[in-house]
Amino acid sequence: MIYEIKTYGDSALRGENKNIEEVDDSIKEILDSMVETMRNINGVGLAAPQVGINLKMFVMEAEEGIIRKIINPEFIQYSEIQIDHEEGCLSVPGIYKKVKRPESLKVRYLNENGESIEEELGESWARVFQHESDHLEGILFVDKIAPVAKRLVSKKLLSMKKETLKKLGK
Ligand SMILES: [Zn+2]
Repeated sequence: MIYEIKTYGDSALRGENKNIEEVDDSIKEILDSMVETMRNINGVGLAAPQVGINLKMFVMEAEEGIIRKIINPEFIQYSEIQIDHEEGCLSVPGIYKKVKRPESLKVRYLNENGESIEEELGESWARVFQHESDHLEGILFVDKIAPVAKRLVSKKLLSMKKETLKKLGK
């Protein structure tokens, strides 16, 4: 199933996301549909709140053909080195700006089989993992861009928000 992506201004993106107690079939089904949705629009990551589901999980495909399904992510360690890299977001279409983030990390999460995984991530995987984890805290990448860049996109964000609210009938 292909989900509709919630866009900037939708309250689901700022909602509180719950930890998943049990990785059952319904969770697996949602994760599969999230992968389908992400691939359908050529995304590299998609978090549950972006499809209106306020649970702590996301999917990513930072390298073509390799999918990671992440449940209840935790950060164990960040690298001291931070790098600036351009990001975009399926929920904030048309805006691409640089965000500074740690270059690599050590993380822990549950996979789709409910197994606890600990691993080190670098490059695109580290970046996407952080971007998607932010979604689970109700944070969007445009919250983290430099003030000058933020001023440049503020009008665009405002009209996107109006468009979203109109679509929702608010
Ligand atoms: Zn995003």
